[in-house]
Amino acid sequence: TSERLEGVTSDQISQALFERAGAVIPGGVNSPVRAFGAVGGTPRFIASARGPYLTDADGNEYVDLICSWGPMILGHAHPAVVEAVQRAAALGTSYGTPTEGEVTLAEEIVARTPVEQVRLVSSGTEATMSAIRLARGFTGRPKIVKFSGCYHGHSDGLLAAAGSGVATFGLPDSPGVTGAATADTLVLGYNDLAAVEEVFAEQGDQIACVITEACPANMGIVPPLDDFNLRLKAICAQYGALLIMDEVLTGFRVSRSGWYGIDGVAGDLCTFGKVMGGGLPAAAFGGRAEIMSRLAPAGPVYQAGTLSGNPLATAAGLATLRGATDEVYARIDGAAATVAELASDALTKEGVEHRLQVAGNLFSIFFAPGKVRDFDGAQQQDTRRYAAFFHAALDRGVYLPPSAYEAWFLSAAHDDAALGRIAEALPHAARAAA
Ligand code: PLP
Repeated sequence: TSERLEGVTSDQISQALFERAGAVIPGGVNSPVRAFGAVGGTPRFIASARGPYLTDADGNEYVDLICSWGPMILGHAHPAVVEAVQRAAALGTSYGTPTEGEVTLAEEIVARTPVEQVRLVSSGTEATMSAIRLARGFTGRPKIVKFSGCYHGHSDGLLAAAGSGVATFGLPDSPGVTGAATADTLVLGYNDLAAVEEVFAEQGDQIACVITEACPANMGIVPPLDDFNLRLKAICAQYGALLIMDEVLTGFRVSRSGWYGIDGVAGDLCTFGKVMGGGLPAAAFGGRAEIMSRLAPAGPVYQAGTLSGNPLATAAGLATLRGATDEVYARIDGAAATVAELASDALTKEGVEHRLQVAGNLFSIFFAPGKVRDFDGAQQQDTRRYAAFFHAALDRGVYLPPSAYEAWFLSAAHDDAALGRIAEALPHAARAAA
């Protein structure tokens, strides 16, 4: 309607809520990137969402390009997901016992990915933290290799040169993480195979695993070069270390089998989250049975969770994965390609130097001239330009990630009407960034 196209009229209620929040919640948010720390202004408090749209507490409607940071591939409040959650809730919200839903979800994950067995947890942070413990337990070695700009959640040992909010807020690392906690974390530049070869040549017998984002999306989109993942796998195999493919963000989003469905490189262990919970807290780590069987109670490596495999979360995850047909992926791919092109064209028209980087249906725009292949490159971007771009889009009813270090997320619900609104907003955003 024309009303919608007039854009955002008031954010008074969001402002009042943010003030209330600031008194009782640090920074007013429960996860740092939700605050508009990097772009300035007041975060919008969302009251409801449907399909590709968010509605804030003031009644403004936005086309959502965050999709809860990945999970909502079917769009918001999808009827099949809502119904599955309602049905599950009526049967009790948590039992602390095994359930059939967990088995079915595990079977669905095993059918789509290279893993033979999977353990359900409640967040991506838990998944990567537990996968690393298992890799250390399995190999009997202490050290891990991670890449700067990759984000694997906020467990101590992985908060070293991390992407996502850590990058957004310009933190090199976090106070509260001791030197001892990261002493066994070897941080290398992304896409730098020579560095990987060198560190293995020197310390290979000490390295339990390499953990990598299957395709990095937490420093903006920085795809692996050529055979980077394949070489990582070969180097790990040569030295008896495990490769952990973190597919928390890419899993079940970039294809029905995640990034594995695109480059075919199987991690010895894989981590999943986001989409597999359908917007509820569910995540997982899995791998070959030979490795996974070292977990308690089958083996000695301890890992547990009161709400792991929660019946509402497994119901939402199953409904989402079952709804994620080939047609759904084709729609997401198409919508992402359209929006990426709209954004890049609008910026080109205004003469704004930028670099569009694409990985399947994920993309991000760096306000930087050349190709970005690692975290150093990502940090060369002009984040002030992104802030201007972001706010002009927001004022016109398009909710972009409030950080230049994040990917843009589409869903199968982003139809022609939603794309049309994005097409109206982006030229204004590009002008603001010029
Ligand atoms: N791994 C990757 C690749 C992620 O993108 C994220 C979150 O963005 C995580 C792990 C952590 O997941 P969670 O936020 O559910 O703890």
